[in-house]
Amino acid sequence: MIITFYGVRGSAPTPGPTTIKYGGNTSCVHLAMDNGADVILDAGTGMKQLGRSLLGKSTPINIVLSHVHWDHIQGYPFFAPIFQAEREIDVFTSADSPDHLPGTLLSQMNGINFPITLEELPSRNNCIFDNVETLLKDRSIHVIRKALNHPGGGSAFRFEEEGMSCAYVTDNELEPPYKVHTSYDEWVDFLHGVDVLIHDAQYTEDDMPHKHGWGHSLISQVRQLAMDAEVGTLVMFHHDPDRNDTELDEIQIENHAYFKHHRKPIKCICAAEGMQIKLSRPIIGSDTLVKIL
Ligand SMILES: [Zn+2]
Ligand SMILES: [Zn+2]
Repeated sequence: MIITFYGVRGSAPTPGPTTIKYGGNTSCVHLAMDNGADVILDAGTGMKQLGRSLLGKSTPINIVLSHVHWDHIQGYPFFAPIFQAEREIDVFTSADSPDHLPGTLLSQMNGINFPITLEELPSRNNCIFDNVETLLKDRSIHVIRKALNHPGGGSAFRFEEEGMSCAYVTDNELEPPYKVHTSYDEWVDFLHGVDVLIHDAQYTEDDMPHKHGWGHSLISQVRQLAMDAEVGTLVMFHHDPDRNDTELDEIQIENHAYFKHHRKPIKCICAAEGMQIKLSRPIIGSDTLVKIL
């Protein structure tokens, strides 16, 4: 499994000289499964760049959507494969969202918000929100879901392939002031032992208390979760749009010192556009090899 990050920013695209290193595109991550399947996690603005790399193929594309906030759907109209004749593009989304929401990704192509309508596309676009896990399993993609703590709802996903695992948990507030869908202890169980955890880490203590309840986690909470769940590699994701490269570099240094102080063998990195992580099949009795390319 190879994980490639095309968009790592939360809330709003932030191009410019202060975000060149980590990138300004919103959420989009590609999983190249060892069985050949392409899985795309979210359809933020990073999806535009990803689309070009998939034009040489004709295989179905599986988009797994955490939820339909703008920063997770805006790249779809610019995703080049939607203009390929007969290309099958299936959008798998959350039964934890209200039923009308899954269509939001496709309905933004209505001739008003975007000049080309869904009906005019030559590709075959389907939105699926029932039996997502079963339908993906039919394609040999093994995934389990968990409900996010986020205004409007949504889902986290844990993918497993040949003993390797990667969890995508973005737009998740670990300790929200509103009704909890998944408790902290349930997150620890769900994520236990995962090789790579990609988790929302949008805020610092300076953002509180006025952003409490906005649906995102503190960096300090995510570090604690990684320790409690004994993850292999923690990837901090969905960076705040006001966080510049210098600040993210400082967070990287803090993360390293934090895990060293706690004597935990957890790799921790801030996601950056273009970053790739390769998970290799474990030889029996050894850990999955996680290599940051
Ligand atoms: Zn978001
Ligand atoms: Zn959101």
